[in-house]
Amino acid sequence: MGGARLALVDLYQAKKRIHELVRETPLVESQSLGAFNGGAIRLKLEHHQLTGSFKLRGATNAVLNLTAEQKKKGVVGVSTGNFGRGLAYAAKQAGVRCVICMSNLVPDNKVQGIKALGAEVRIVGRSQDEAQTEVDRLVAEQGMVMLDPFDQADVIAGQGTLGLELMAQWPQLQCAVVPLSGGGLISGVALAIKSINPSSRIIAVTMERGAAMYESIRAGKPVQVEEYPSLADSLGGGIGLRNQYTFDMVKELVDDFVLVSEKEIAAAIRHAYWQERQIIEGGGAVAIAALLSGKIESMGNTVLLLSGCNIDMALHHRIIGGEDVQLHDESS
Ligand SMILES: *Cc1c(COP(=O)(O)O)cnc(C)c1O
Repeated sequence: MGGARLALVDLYQAKKRIHELVRETPLVESQSLGAFNGGAIRLKLEHHQLTGSFKLRGATNAVLNLTAEQKKKGVVGVSTGNFGRGLAYAAKQAGVRCVICMSNLVPDNKVQGIKALGAEVRIVGRSQDEAQTEVDRLVAEQGMVMLDPFDQADVIAGQGTLGLELMAQWPQLQCAVVPLSGGGLISGVALAIKSINPSSRIIAVTMERGAAMYESIRAGKPVQVEEYPSLADSLGGGIGLRNQYTFDMVKELVDDFVLVSEKEIAAAIRHAYWQERQIIEGGGAVAIAALLSGKIESMGNTVLLLSGCNIDMALHHRIIGGEDVQLHDESS
């Protein structure tokens, strides 16, 4: 079981390592969503994290954990964008070379954002798995160190500091609704919350199209799913057929899975903007989408985790203006 390999103490060590380099993000009462729930609803504004997502936590912990020898060679990662941003920033802070490989499904605003943070970017293939082949080459030929966006112990521990922060901010928390892709975020957060309050509930939310972890849990082993363009582009990608940590941890620690449609994600982005004055990306909006669409029962004191803000602002503008955005009809 995953929990046996990673323990609460690992999260506290990560916190000690990274706490001066990451922001403590606000936890606020939702003005508009309380009526959907018997208990209170609070929003964790992690999209206000430096680099625009929680990925900075895991990336910073992993970079600081490298040996001096590894730091000299540099780091490589494959990323749908936010891990690349976090890793680029973390590497720059540590004075370490950083190369990010990504598929051509990643929107251009995310590519430019990573370059601006000081990393080299290589665009390879139509899926994360294809981009991975370039990472493998850099590791084999140049001795660079690959950091995984989710399936790595120190990355999960870094994301887990978000769970520690939540329990400190709201010790009466009973339920956390968390976006799910590769599962690094929810594994770390759930480990923190359930270690401190074992009776709490953890609900995973992901998009209907390309729900790799959900399909894998259903199949009883990691499986590959087809990738589609989605408003929740930061939730794309597989979980790795040789998954070491997050498959087991999600299986053990997550109580429920909710899938949301593209329309529901758009409605959540809209709601966050007009009702809560928050700009969030699709992947960061799925917890709100799950609640608004009535797919979550009343759970007592509930946190909705808003995980990122890196959305193309022209796309955001169209969504909040009420346009019915259909990404799969657009050829770009
Ligand atoms: C990466 C990401 C997620 C999902 O995190 P996993 O650890 O892959 O499950 C959710 N939201 C945003 C904004 C992300 O960038």
